[in-house]
Amino acid sequence: MESVVEFFKNLPPKMCAECGEKIEEQHECYSNKCDKCNCE
Ligand SMILES: [Zn+2]
Repeated sequence: MESVVEFFKNLPPKMCAECGEKIEEQHECYSNKCDKCNCE
């Protein structure tokens, strides 16, 4: 079952579709945008 772990480890970080910032936390209103662009 190691391959599953590897899969998630190798997932690229989520990027903001607006500014390209890396999205680290997933909030309730999360989309493909970072906090700044999302909750403006
Ligand atoms: Zn952004």
